[in-house]
Amino acid sequence: MKIDGRTEFYGIIGWPVEHTASPALQNAAFAHFGMNAVYAPMAVAPASLERAAAGLRALGFKGFNVTVPHKVRVMEYLDGVEGAAAELKAVNVVVNRGGRLTGHNTDAEGFRMSLGHEGVEVKGGVVAVLGAGGAARAVVRALQQAGAAKIFLINRTFEKAVGISEAPQYLDGMVRPVRFSDPRVDNIFSECSIIVNATTLGLRKTDPPPLDPGKIRPGHTLVDLIYQPRTTAFLEAGAAKGARTVNGYGMLVFQAMEAFRLWTGERPPVEVMWNAGMEGLK
Ligand code: NAP
Repeated sequence: MKIDGRTEFYGIIGWPVEHTASPALQNAAFAHFGMNAVYAPMAVAPASLERAAAGLRALGFKGFNVTVPHKVRVMEYLDGVEGAAAELKAVNVVVNRGGRLTGHNTDAEGFRMSLGHEGVEVKGGVVAVLGAGGAARAVVRALQQAGAAKIFLINRTFEKAVGISEAPQYLDGMVRPVRFSDPRVDNIFSECSIIVNATTLGLRKTDPPPLDPGKIRPGHTLVDLIYQPRTTAFLEAGAAKGARTVNGYGMLVFQAMEAFRLWTGERPPVEVMWNAGMEGLK
């Protein structure tokens, strides 16, 4: 890598960021196109977010990713938000055009593209989404855009699922909020072809699956947004039952590809980012 007076700067802000795979993905794409650019992880404590955003602007960063816990608050320090970011009220990509910082969200598109890449058919299907945090919001939007017929949004805190289901774009009642403790959950799982884990359960190797493994059928496709660890109790239970299993690595790669496209106008071959990220995770 050559760094000189013309090198363009990109990066990711989060707290913590030491385990992020994004630098491996983005730097591989810059290298692929021979671009004079570099992408670095930057640990930004919540109390420093405003100063960090001003600093990145002052230093002329061309773009940066935003991860937990800054995806919502960062909007206060931008000049505008566009597209999915405005709808989801969360930003994971910032683009700097001539000093104007605009927030975008590529998580929904990344999820939709990863399902396409894996050949998971959503159109006309009934889907259960477990969890109602920021990632679930993006997943629900992606599933709607991919043509899901009905989405059951199952969460421990019922009010959060209700909040998402009441967004103007879902007013046709296609998103049904459900409590995890609701006795109808068993029937819901039998009605679904796809079950998505968008909870944080599984990030620790010792975490239990987010649903009773007895409810998984061989015809189910189980998608976990978690990619580190590569497999979770949820996916292991699915594999044991003969269900199809997909982890969150594809979503990570495709949201990164979309970010790269917003920054540079170029779309790198999938394998470039895919393989570089895998190396980084080893
Ligand atoms: P978040 O906003 O903090 O939401 C966490 C969700 O998990 C909430 O719905 C929460 O329920 C639920 N939850 C937490 N502990 C639980 C438990 N013990 N039992 C049942 N539910 C529990 O997090 P997020 O940003 O949406 O992220 C969710 C997951 O997606 C994380 O694992 C993250 O790593 C992953 N993710 C992956 C990608 C990717 O590119 N692959 C991108 C974004 C996120 P309550 O509402 O009841 O608290």
